[in-house]
Parts: sequence; structure tokens; C-alpha cells
Amino acid sequence: MKLDVDVLRYLSKDDFRVLTAVELGMRNHEIVPTELIDRIARLKHGGTYKVLKNLLKYKLLHHDSSKYDGFRLTYLGYDFLAIKTMVNKGVFVGVGRQIGVGKESDIFEVVQEDGTVLAMKLHRLGRVSFRAVKSKRDYLRHRNSYNWLYLSRLAALKEFAFMKALETHGFPVPNAIEHNRHCVVMSLVQGYPLVQVKQLLNPETVFETIIGLVVRLAEHGLIHCDFNEFNIMIDDDEKITMIDFPQMVSVSHRNAQMYFDRDVECIFKFFRKRFNLSFQESIDDIDGSDDGRDEAGKPCFSTIERSAGFLDRELAASGFTRKDEEDIQRFIEGGAESDTNSDSEGVDIVEDPNEADTVHGDSSHLLEQNEGYESQGKEESSEVRESSESGKE
Ligand code: ADP
Ligand code: MG
Repeated sequence: MKLDVDVLRYLSKDDFRVLTAVELGMRNHEIVPTELIDRIARLKHGGTYKVLKNLLKYKLLHHDSSKYDGFRLTYLGYDFLAIKTMVNKGVFVGVGRQIGVGKESDIFEVVQEDGTVLAMKLHRLGRVSFRAVKSKRDYLRHRNSYNWLYLSRLAALKEFAFMKALETHGFPVPNAIEHNRHCVVMSLVQGYPLVQVKQLLNPETVFETIIGLVVRLAEHGLIHCDFNEFNIMIDDDEKITMIDFPQMVSVSHRNAQMYFDRDVECIFKFFRKRFNLSFQESIDDIDGSDDGRDEAGKPCFSTIERSAGFLDRELAASGFTRKDEEDIQRFIEGGAESDTNSDSEGVDIVEDPNEADTVHGDSSHLLEQNEGYESQGKEESSEVRESSESGKE
């Protein structure tokens, strides 16, 4: 995906104001009526329509007139809102080359004022299947109230919260720096994804370190759930960093054992194929025992001493709640199997059809995240708040 940040320079305050108005409108509308955008944005000198045309030209919005005349944000539009906020906060000053295309993300280098290069991950939930539960996801995708903005933001929040907590507990993860909307900024990991590595000096040691991480995560009450050669980075000193946390689950998850075994199996399989490791040997070589391991040398989930829920406090500190976790799990797993009706809760932004015409309720929540306005001073953001409230009447 092309992220032409030069466009940022051409965008005026009014452009961002209207873009933000569309974002606010999307809390209740998949397609935000043009007239509502105008009402929320309340441009001092008018001209919302002209601005909308400009935003359309840069592909920051999508126009839809099938049911009524309206707009929605594109991923690019959402990217720009997040990037603008990050720049305003001084998190970074420029966006560089793309360094990764994940399953549901794009990763770019960003550069700070002092030249430090960081990694920026833009979450794109709904782009492709998160995991092999596609058919159920299709069900969600075809619901027209399905909201990728909400889910991508949740994925970013979860990733940030987990990264911070894991770092606190001494896990080798990138340093979590900032998050906004669907965007997470973290330290740039030196090295490469393990999948690109053809040779290792000490494959046994690397293997044991990695398996040790899976076990230690479980001891801390967590399972990565996507622990494989794509999400393990390794540098020239064969130091490991794990990445990619939006799909992590607690060891109390009903499928915990399956997820744990799958993570372990991925690593075993990869090392067997790529580095010809035969495992029993390597384990005996390293620690001289096979404590808690089965005959194939695999750690057993049932024998791991777990302290479920240890992360709760840290996660809450980053603003990631239990409800957020339920919502995102519901999406990842393609909707609660037994509970397909209530899966709209949280995922479905239009909760009350009677309120569908207003940006109602606690939109300050969104506005707070809308620090894109910060550089324009508090006045304007309270204006937007007023206008969104006046929409209630
Ligand atoms: P996804 O969830 O879409 O799989 P990942 O977080 O795994 O996204 O990132 C995709 C790729 O981007 C990784 O495989 C890696 O090559 C690169 N990447 C991600 N985070 C970083 C980082 N902090 N530093 C360097 N490269 C990174
Ligand atoms: Mg990944």
C-alpha cells in the first residue's frame, strides 16, 4: 500500500477538521450523510463540500450515494488522522519506507527529530483473514454494520498494552512508544524475521530460548497464538525479539491448550525442517533434563504453573479493558459460536437506530483521541464537541 505522506503537507486545518468530522460520524454511520458531516465540522467559513471533494481526490474518503449522499473514511484517511496526531504529539517527524506487510497490518519506518528510526504499525483488521477461521469471519464481514475502524483501533490498543506489560515483565519485545487509533509506534527491531534466516550459529540455543519464551509466557498467564518464524525477529548475535500481539489470549481461554500446543508445534516444525534439529537430543544437551516435556521434548501445557490474570493491572493501565478483549476475541474467532446475535455489541457501532442520526453520547472519548486538533488549540475541539452535542437536539 502506498502511503504518500507528502499529501499531509497539502492538507489544511479545514481538511483535517472535515476528516475528523467523518470519523466522528462513523461512530453511528457506516456512510456518514454529507449534511451531517457539514453539521459536525462547522467550518468557520463554510465550504465543507469543497473540502470533501479535495479529500476524495487524495483518496482519504470514499463517496457513496447508493442509499443517500455520504462519505466514509478509507484506511488512508484513518492513517492520516493517526499520523497527524502522532506528528502533533512529537512522536515522530516523518514517515519512511515500508518495512513489512503483515497479515493485517502495514509497517513503516518513522523518524524522530533526532534521527532515531522507529517502527509504526498500522492495523488493518478486516483486510484478510486473521487466522484460518475465514468462513465465520465472512459472516461478520457481510454484516453491513461491521466496523473495521473500531476493530483496528482495538487491535492497536491491545498490541500496545501487551507490549508494554510484556516489556515490564522482562520479555524481549519492542519498546512500546505510543498508540493512536489503529497505529502503534514502537522501537525498530534490528535483525530479521526468523523465516528469512537460513543458517544459525547455535540453532539449539535459539530453539531453546524460543521454546522457553512460550513456556514463560504461559507461566505468566498468556499464549501468543501466532508464535512462529514470522513473528520472531533475530539479530546478528542471535538475540530474539518477539512481535505481533493482537491475538494473544489468556491461559484461561477455553482453547488455551490447543493454542499453546499449536505455538509449540510451529516452532518445532520450523526448526526440524530448517535446521534439521532432532529435539530430544537438543533438550538433553542443553539442560540435561526433560522436566515438563513429553517424549518428543515438547513442553506440556498442563504441567506449567500458571498465574492467570497477572497482566490485568498493566493492561488496564494502558486502557485495555476486559470488554475490549471480549470484542476483539469475538472478531478473531469469527463471532461467538453460540452467541451470534450479541456479537454486534461493540462491533456494531449503531446500537440504537433512533440515535443513528446524531453523533451522540460520549463522543468526548473520540475527541480525546482526536489530538489532531491539539495544534489548533482546545477551543476548536470543544467547538466540535458542542456541535456534536447540538446534533442531539
Ligand atoms: P502482522 O500482525 O500483520 O503479522 P507484524 O507485527 O508481525 O504484523 O509485522 C509484520 C512484519 O513487519 C514483521 O514480520 C517484521 O518483518 C516487520 N516488523 C514488525 N514490527 C517490527 C519492528 N518493531 N521492527 C522491525 N520490523 C518489524
Ligand atoms: Mg505477524
